[in-house]
Amino acid sequence: MSPFLSEGPSQAKVANLLLPESIRVFERGWLSSNNILFIGPTDTALVDSGYASHATQTVALVRQVLGTRRLDRLINTHLHSDHCGGNAALQRAYRCQTMIPAADADLVANWREEELSFAQTGQRCERFSFQATLSPGDELELGGLIWQAMAAPGHDPHALMLFCASEGILISGDALWERGFGVVFPELEGRPGFADTRRTLEAIRALPLRVVIPGHGAPFTEIERSLEEAFARLDYLVADPLRNARHAIKVLLKFLLLEHQWLPLAGLAERFSQIILIERINERFLGQTPRQLCEAAIAGLIASQAASLDGANLVNCEPLVTPRPAGSNPRGTSFA
Ligand SMILES: [Zn+2]
Repeated sequence: MSPFLSEGPSQAKVANLLLPESIRVFERGWLSSNNILFIGPTDTALVDSGYASHATQTVALVRQVLGTRRLDRLINTHLHSDHCGGNAALQRAYRCQTMIPAADADLVANWREEELSFAQTGQRCERFSFQATLSPGDELELGGLIWQAMAAPGHDPHALMLFCASEGILISGDALWERGFGVVFPELEGRPGFADTRRTLEAIRALPLRVVIPGHGAPFTEIERSLEEAFARLDYLVADPLRNARHAIKVLLKFLLLEHQWLPLAGLAERFSQIILIERINERFLGQTPRQLCEAAIAGLIASQAASLDGANLVNCEPLVTPRPAGSNPRGTSFA
């Protein structure tokens, strides 16, 4: 039986075949991060749990593969809503031990929602608890294999990756996708993030890797090509930080669209500009009216075929990631 629940392009199939039997990748739509299930000889574990509105489906996917076995552990690469939104549902279903990045322990223990990014981004995440933390350098056994936690600051300052040296596999979260990486959020609030992003990409380049399992999209093997594209995109953003700001605005609108599938244009500018992070990005970088801000984001999504207009509504369009053209540009078309 194929250990994978989704069919991707041939590249993805090759990457999937290179994964050990004890690893199952649930490749989800872009609203939810991928979930990586480990079925070891003595215990089971899941890395990342998707977005809140997909939580029932996440539990069902895990149950479908585990059958009568229980889920023993849940681990988050980072605490964005699309990676930990299913935590509470999985905890209810399995009472699994939950392990989060140590740097976020205080925020989660006291559920400081704004600092956890959910309130700021207008996204949802049901409150969850944790029993253990993970720090860079820690080792853990997943699926009968030894994995090392690595710091992956940039997209999120506290993000972690998991590296299995014996198999040459990296679980990269949003630090590296086949095409690009997640929005560099710290820069949007005036904190450094580009230099961290570069260091993280360099740390990935130094690893002996066969396969990367990203937070979004299929596992991939052409890692050098993805890294080259990621460095080019980083250079493009660093050359003009307004690009990161405009991209983030577009991504936040896309996320809203992914969640609702369509949004009425009437009142959208007001609704959109009330999202705290959008307000802050606008204040710091763009200085536009809510209408200008929203219209620019809509135009950007339509131009990259991530949305279309249907009468009085903005409608979600798939796919989110276009096939990589020859000599592809560093602007990228991925959203998360
Ligand atoms: Zn993220």
